[in-house]
Amino acid sequence: MEIFRSENIVKKYANHLALDDVSISINEGSIFGLLGPNGAGKTTFIRIINQITAPDSGKLFLFNNKLKASDICHIGYLPEERGLYKKMKVGEQALYLAQLKGLSKKDALKKLKYWFEKFEIQAWWDKKVEELSKGMQQKIQFIVTILHEPKLLIFDEPFSGFDPINTNIIKNEILELKKNGSTVIFSTHNMGSVEELCDHIALINNSKKILDGQIDDIRQQYKSNTFEISFNGSIENFKTNISNDFEIIETDINKKVSNDEHIVRVKLNNGSTPNDLLSMVLPTVQIKSFNELIPSMNDIFIKVVEGEK
Ligand code: ADP
Repeated sequence: MEIFRSENIVKKYANHLALDDVSISINEGSIFGLLGPNGAGKTTFIRIINQITAPDSGKLFLFNNKLKASDICHIGYLPEERGLYKKMKVGEQALYLAQLKGLSKKDALKKLKYWFEKFEIQAWWDKKVEELSKGMQQKIQFIVTILHEPKLLIFDEPFSGFDPINTNIIKNEILELKKNGSTVIFSTHNMGSVEELCDHIALINNSKKILDGQIDDIRQQYKSNTFEISFNGSIENFKTNISNDFEIIETDINKKVSNDEHIVRVKLNNGSTPNDLLSMVLPTVQIKSFNELIPSMNDIFIKVVEGEK
């Protein structure tokens, strides 16, 4: 079921068209990646969903009803520009922010206790924010963002500033939130995390949406009939045995394990099949592995954005 939809969103700043007719639909319980190069319009779009700024035209819907001011209690937003009051104590501030989101003090305390224990950060409660590192402050903001259990969570670059261990902790929490029924929109440049987390993505470039779909479908759509083969034997024999329908695009991309072992990438042209290729090389080399190369989201991002230039 759809939880959120934008229709034909347009946003102009003084002399810049920041969003040009952007429509997206997000299913409940999914993780939606909002991708795009710097300056594409992602933050503008996220600010519009959070009603921090208004679009010039277009419509927004939450649960099929027009988005309204009071919907903000259903949305949790972790902005990229994060700011906690430096002089205030961590616990006191978390409690204050949680109450701003509509939680009672008692409820907020109970939920904060749960999260501080879960993240093993009880010792931070009485520290001043300025005594925490950037990553530690970010963890506090993550907790405050999800504390009131909003239906829709929006994280702008949630992993920036985190070390790999904390990145993993946050990734797992995002998956856990999804498992418990939350819907997540997040923007990131970290394509590895997109593949690990997202069900669906939209790619914005130069203010326009240029790609939208399920991750698996998009990766299938961009594959180029290229296979990676590792084998023992002579690379010359391999090359001379294959016909012109096969184009060797890379050889020995990884370190050889031994002089005799090779890894080759081959593009299959003119309707040729993996079976054709294998039957040509089988008599001369010893196949160790054979698999189709499915492009990564990183490859696709670069290809699509570069292709627009
Ligand atoms: P992204 O988050 O994808 O990096 P932004 O939404 O922050 O992109 O910005 C999109 C474009 O709109 C950029 O060219 C940026 O300079 C411009 N922009 C963003 N906010 C404002 C603003 N308040 N006034 C004028 N231009 C802005």
